Amino acid sequence: MLLSVEEAQSTILSEIRPLNRIVERPLSQSYGEILARDIRADSDIPPFTNSAMDGYALRVDDIRDASSDEPVTLTVIGTVRAGHPGSQPVAKGQCYKIMTGGMVPDLADAVIPIESTKPGAEPNTVQILESATVGAFLRPAGEDIQKGSIVVKKGTRISPPAVGLLATAGAYVVPVREAPRVGIVSTGDELVGPDQPLTKGTIRNSNGYALQAAVYEAGGQPVLYPRAPDDPQAIRKLFHDAAKDCDLLISSGGVSVGDYDFVKPVIESLGHLTLWRVNLKPGKPVAFGKVVGIPVVGLPGNPVSALITFELFVRPAIRVMLGDEQWPRPTVRLPLAADIKSVEKRRQYLRARLVIENSHLAAWPHDRQGSAVQSSWESVDALVIVPENTGPYHAGDLLDTMLLSLHSVRPI
Ligand code: AMP
Ligand code: MG
Repeated sequence: MLLSVEEAQSTILSEIRPLNRIVERPLSQSYGEILARDIRADSDIPPFTNSAMDGYALRVDDIRDASSDEPVTLTVIGTVRAGHPGSQPVAKGQCYKIMTGGMVPDLADAVIPIESTKPGAEPNTVQILESATVGAFLRPAGEDIQKGSIVVKKGTRISPPAVGLLATAGAYVVPVREAPRVGIVSTGDELVGPDQPLTKGTIRNSNGYALQAAVYEAGGQPVLYPRAPDDPQAIRKLFHDAAKDCDLLISSGGVSVGDYDFVKPVIESLGHLTLWRVNLKPGKPVAFGKVVGIPVVGLPGNPVSALITFELFVRPAIRVMLGDEQWPRPTVRLPLAADIKSVEKRRQYLRARLVIENSHLAAWPHDRQGSAVQSSWESVDALVIVPENTGPYHAGDLLDTMLLSLHSVRPI
């Protein structure tokens, strides 16, 4: 029996911990990072009771009977602007003109919006055309957030609104976890760099670069090692050196049952192999273990298998190392926008676009799902999960769908 994706994921994550390297980042560079500690407000928010409208700050008792037929005239003792508080309390029969955000003067207990007033007959007077209840159009101190309470929780990914909250709370430097260093080793005698000509029997090393970008996207710091030939000594040396410099190591290729697949024996010789082979298609031969004390994931060589196993097993590990408590991708049941003909013994993860069909979201699996078919990685928004030994499925059938991104969702 092959391990399920969930069993493999929990086995891998049971060996992964958030990194202890916490660094203080200037707030202006914190976007997208994971907050490493709870941040609390250093004052009430708002810090003082202020006006929600442009109008007049006054005493409710003075305008109990005000109406448009019988306005109440008050003396205006000054103007309060945002950032410029008034200098005296409001006495009986008085008011301040006040702008939105202005600090409500002492003894005023409501604001009447400008639209409910008229200029008074005398200079420095105003006619109030309606009554108010205590607190009308006031934003009391601490109404939003109380001093000392948590404004952004640890483990939160710092979004633009979170940056705003942190600024409001006076956090101009914030603790975040340093990005894990993720070593990438591509194995294969056939690989040449994208800058090199293709000679007979060679192909370009696409995995090294795709995985480097995937590590960046996952929030890690990629360290790209030179390609390793299919030679156990060479792979061993690269793994050994990389493990000393990285928090996590990933390799591509050489992890299956071929005569020149040496990644598993190398992991065993440098540490131990914890799992190998998972019930999924593409990506079955994925391996996990430890070398020189560092977790290592051996990804299969086929470009699609490499990225899907990265998504399922490496990205979660990177997110957990960063302290992200919301690492799982959302998975929802979505209708198919096209048929799925293949029935497989293993659980399939099909590359799909998300489309909007009659105002509803639907998943459109690409026609060509081969593990070496790179062209269908273009505009992949989601992976449709097809349970083993089930199918065929038809357009409209519901299947669990793992959402990767919403960037290219379009109506059809
Ligand atoms: P392997 O897992 O080493 O047996 O490789 C499986 C398939 O993936 C073979 O066709 C390899 O040539 C191909 N492959 C392996 N590594 C890479 C790579 N880094 N970039 C592109 N294709 C690769
Ligand atoms: Mg190979």
